[in-house]
Amino acid sequence: MKTSLKIRAAANALNLSTATGLLLAALTGTRVARGPDGLFIGSSYTPRLPLAGAFTVGNVVLCRGGPGALEQHPGLLAHESGHASQYAWCLGLPFLPLYGACAAWSLWRTGDPGSRNFFERNAGLERGGYRELPTVDRGPAVRNFLQRLSFFRQHRTAAADTPPAAPTTEGNHP
Ligand SMILES: [Zn+2]
Repeated sequence: MKTSLKIRAAANALNLSTATGLLLAALTGTRVARGPDGLFIGSSYTPRLPLAGAFTVGNVVLCRGGPGALEQHPGLLAHESGHASQYAWCLGLPFLPLYGACAAWSLWRTGDPGSRNFFERNAGLERGGYRELPTVDRGPAVRNFLQRLSFFRQHRTAAADTPPAAPTTEGNHP
């Protein structure tokens, strides 16, 4: 195994992301075996979430296919291996919120959580089963929102500046 992969395995052991992946596998009854490049492969993962054929936690790749299925898709395995490296760079579990933020950004820009997601692009879009999608122009929607916000602010300020109406004495005369 390459030195860089040994360092990755050690980093993900120390930052507890691999332990988290193994715990998730144990809790979900997913069978885990040793895979290439210091990875663990969990097969026949059954819970509904996440909505992915395969995903990675630390050095543990969990997939829905049976034993040996992931090894038959070397591109996808390489993609998931890329995510294992990203866990090491993110010092472990901080990967998850960072990934979530990038997925939200991609969803906003393209309507797809992967296409403009830094982590998916870095691991290889195509190998992960994602497509490069055109970005959606959100400018008009943002401008419209800001205009509405400014309208409501002005409206509220104007309402606050108006002095309260003087009490009327009309109708009190005998
Ligand atoms: Zn991916």
